[in-house]
Parts: sequence; structure tokens; C-alpha cells
Amino acid sequence: MASKLRFYNTLTRSKDDFVPIDEKNVRLYVCGPTVYDYAHIGNARPIIVFDLLFRLLRHVYGEDAVTYVRNITDVDDKINARAARDYPDLPHNEAIRLVTEKTEAQFHADIRALGVLMPDDVNAPGQPPRFVEPRATEHIDEMRMIIERLIARGAAYVAEDHVLFSVSGMQRLPNVPKYGAFSNRSLDELLSGARVDVAPYKRDPMDFVLWKPSGPKDPSWPSPAGIATPGRPGWHIECSAMSWRHLVKAFETRLSCDDPAARETFDIHGGGIDLVFPHHENEIAQSCCAFGMPRMANVWMHNGFLQVESEKMSKSLGNFLTIHDLLKDWPGEVLRFNMLRTHYRQPIDWTVRGLEESEKVLDRWYGLTAGTDAAPAFSAPVTEALADDLNTPRMIAELHALDGAGAHAELIGNLRALGFLAEGLEAWKARRRAALAVDPATVEALIAARREARAAKNWAESDRIRDELAALSVVVKDNKDGTTTWEVAR
Ligand code: AMP
Ligand code: ZN
Repeated sequence: MASKLRFYNTLTRSKDDFVPIDEKNVRLYVCGPTVYDYAHIGNARPIIVFDLLFRLLRHVYGEDAVTYVRNITDVDDKINARAARDYPDLPHNEAIRLVTEKTEAQFHADIRALGVLMPDDVNAPGQPPRFVEPRATEHIDEMRMIIERLIARGAAYVAEDHVLFSVSGMQRLPNVPKYGAFSNRSLDELLSGARVDVAPYKRDPMDFVLWKPSGPKDPSWPSPAGIATPGRPGWHIECSAMSWRHLVKAFETRLSCDDPAARETFDIHGGGIDLVFPHHENEIAQSCCAFGMPRMANVWMHNGFLQVESEKMSKSLGNFLTIHDLLKDWPGEVLRFNMLRTHYRQPIDWTVRGLEESEKVLDRWYGLTAGTDAAPAFSAPVTEALADDLNTPRMIAELHALDGAGAHAELIGNLRALGFLAEGLEAWKARRRAALAVDPATVEALIAARREARAAKNWAESDRIRDELAALSVVVKDNKDGTTTWEVAR
């Protein structure tokens, strides 16, 4: 077996050796976006980090041995509100569909530019899918099934057309964790946190919604538990349903391990650190209680938060950066590289300066492709760095070391394996000019005018043109052989 992997596990609060339940079927779930608006650069962090983890697992265990599920949350009250705002004259179902379809397409376009693998890149016809991107609305049956099981096991109850998860019911079940253990919160803390504005139908303030009744403008499905009013799911139940279908049910006959308890558990669950509570605590409560198991996933990995120029990103501060807007100014691979310069568990400070530095590095490495090429391949030191809890700063140091040693083909192979150098050199250069809105014909014309001015010894005019070029961020170089070349700098 290849490198030994070690990951920091939120569940155990330590960096542990990674031992898959079944090496031939390594299973990873990551909470995906709620599709109602452009994704911001903070949302890009888990996408990039877990794409890298997926690539590493594929490298270590084999491309057919890893299944990655990243869901799309396409039922949520934020979506309903956006649909009503943007399409007030359309029937609500149609308006909701427009919002989710448009946002999902935008999300895909954005993240494709970030160099992440997409389902089409890894799935082969006739083979079980290796990357599944399930939509919540296509898993309502599984949600109802889990809800029914929770009710049958005394971990959920019906109240005023809602179904609520019962924390006290959970405490009475054997072989399941204690509620709050995952996020390290005591019941007292949880109780005082939950006491504000308790809905009247809750038996206990800590109980949370699994299913709720829909009004005329909400999306709705037949309710579980004999509730006559049509309804819609709560947020947490979606992930329990989608991970179960694609990482447990789908593997019923495929796993080679004998332990039946392990079959109901998958290997790695990921997301941003803000999801630890309540989302992941509640996912665990639901999945463990529905199936009577001590663990939903063995390893829980959480990325730290991203802030912008040392401030919390927010619309009111005016520093809210969407991936879509950033891509107008920077190649997606620069955003990817910049994201990976910080270890995924650390907070990251997203700055223009960092982007400029990232771009310089990629400019250099793109330049090396002019005379050299190599197929995607991980080198041992790069794999070792990633095997150490995805240590990307160390990975980047190893890439620089390859560069410094003149091992350019090896460097390029690693960069390709890591999701870089997807463009040709010319496309890369052209994109940089386009991003800066510099028209090459204008630059060439200015350079010609400058040459004429200099030939006529009109220094004032040649200086003026030089300043004009500088204002366009164009750096002109007069070569020894009499030619003039130029490039765009920041
Ligand atoms: P949301 O759409 O808010 O549920 O977020 C989607 C994903 O992005 C989740 O995994 C969040 O934890 C993550 N996320 C949201 N904001 C940030 C941020 N500022 N920094 C890092 N991750 C974030
Ligand atoms: Zn989730």
C-alpha cells in the first residue's frame, strides 16, 4: 500500500491514521451549496480543499476505489424567498425551479474554472459513479423513510403537522452517540443556547425540525407519518438521506468488509467549520438513531473560515467577493493556488497581495511548459505532504523545491495532478491580458508610436507614451537585438 494518510478528525479531536472501512470502496461526503445566489470565495474553500482530498485518495487507493458525494441543496426557505423576489409573477414552483437551475449552472461554471474535478471528468459509462452530485429534491423518499424510522424508534414525534427530532428520545436509544458529543457541547449549554424563541410545538427546546408543513407558496411533497398537510424537509435531514443512498445503500452488495455495523458508516464527511453545530451534530443524530449505529462517518474534516483583507466578509461591509466576480480579474487557477497556500484548517486571509503573489508563481510555472510537458503524476514528497493532513503549504514548498532543482517535467506532472496547468500557455497569457482589459492592438500601436518618437528624438513624446503604457500595466522591454517585447504586469 502507498503512503499512510493522517487526517485531523473533528470527532476524536486528534490527527489519526486514516483506515478506510474498505480500501476498495473509500467513501467521502461533503456538504454542498444551497443554490439561491452566486457562491462566494468562502464557499470555494471546501470545494477546492475536498477536491484535493478526492485527488489524493484516488492517487493512493486507485481511481475506481473512491466515491465522492457532494450534494446540491435545492430546497430551502432562502430559495423560496429569492424566487418570490425575482419572479413575483410566476407560479411559485416555476419560479423556484428557475432560481435553482440558474444558480446551479452558475455554480458549476464558477467551480469548473477553479480546476476542480467534475462528475463528467471521472465517471465512466457502465461503471458505478465515482462522483455523485445529488439534488435534495430528488431524495424526498429517502428523507421520509429516515423520518419514519426515527418515529418508530422513538427519536422523533409529530406535532402540529411538523416532525421533530427528539433529543431526549435519542438519549434513550442504545448504541448511538450522546447528542452534543460531536460538537463538544453539554446538554446544559445546548439548552441555554436553544431557549430563545422556542416554537410552541417543540417538546424540548433542543428538538429540531425534520419536516414542516408547506404554505401555498412553498414547495411541497406528501408528508410522512400520516400527516395530511403536504410539507417539505428541514435542512439537516437532506444530508442524512443523500449520504445514506449514495454511500451506504449503493454499497450494500459492493463492500468487502464483514462487520455489519461498519456497513452503515462511511469514511469521511467534510464541510466548513461553521457546519459542526448544528448541521453535523444533527446529521449524526438523525443517521445514527435511524439505523442504530454509533457513527455516521468515521472521520470528520472541517475547513477553517475565510476572511477578506483581515475583515469578515459581508455584504454590508462591501467586501463580499463572489467567485463569479473574482474570475473577471483573476484566472481560476490563481484563486485555486491562493486558497491552497494556507493549510485548510487555519483561517485564511484573502488579499489582493496574496493573489498577486500566487499569480507570479503560476506565471513562472506556466512559462516552463513552453519547452517541457508531462502527464499528471504525484511525486513522493508531494504525496507525503498531502498525506500529512493535507499540508498544502508543505506541498507548495515541495513544488518550489522541484523547480529549484530544475526538475521541470516532474514539477509540471505534479501541477497537472493537482488541478493546475489546464490551459495552454498562449491561452493563459491571453486570459491575463483580457482580464486586465488590455487590447493587444492598442499596445502594439503605442509601441510603434514610441519607436517613431524615439527615432525622431522626440523624448517628451516617447516618455508620454511610456507613461500611457505603464498606466495600462504594460511593461515594455527593449531587447538587445533591437526588437521590443511587452507583457502585462500588475
Ligand atoms: P453555505 O451555502 O453557507 O451553507 O456554505 C456552503 C459551504 O461553504 C459550507 O461548507 C460552509 O461551511 C462553507 N463556507 C461558508 N462561508 C465560508 C467562509 N467564509 N469561509 C470558509 N468556508 C465557508
Ligand atoms: Zn450536510
